[in-house]
Amino acid sequence: MSRIRSRDTRPERALGRQIWRLGGRYRRYAATPVGRPDFVFRSARVAVFVDGCQWHGCPDHYVRPRTRDEFWGKKLSENVARDARQTEQLEARGWVVLRVWEHDVRRDALAAARRVVEAIKKERRGGGVEWRVYRVDVLDRAIDLEHRFEVDLRDVSRTRDVIRHRTTSKQ
Ligand SMILES: [Zn+2]
Repeated sequence: MSRIRSRDTRPERALGRQIWRLGGRYRRYAATPVGRPDFVFRSARVAVFVDGCQWHGCPDHYVRPRTRDEFWGKKLSENVARDARQTEQLEARGWVVLRVWEHDVRRDALAAARRVVEAIKKERRGGGVEWRVYRVDVLDRAIDLEHRFEVDLRDVSRTRDVIRHRTTSKQ
């Protein structure tokens, strides 16, 4: 059986180099809840796929093969359906999915990389943050003043702390 996504293609390597240059740190083909995207930014929960123009049905560059119409036609519609499904399922789990065309990387890999890095910054600013209290120190028992420490479940290197009065009110 032929694999749909061939790994480590020339456009993927070109994009990876430029992302790296811009300070983006990724993992290649790392496991996510839905498959192994070409580039994975786990803490930002961004998945990047580099889609080949022929295999993934680029409107500008897809060329219908002259032979084995039925076989290739079926293959194309299966690939596109799989891309749609994978995108939808990742997004349903809170991931941001970027699909980069092979032709965009060939034209200007740096510009394509910039779009990726911008998307990651945006996610880090807000998006996927999920704060959890992991420790509370009592500062003054008489007035119930406490120091609370919180951590982002999505990126445990990100923490914040706040000083406030203990409260039992539920919002
Ligand atoms: Zn194309």
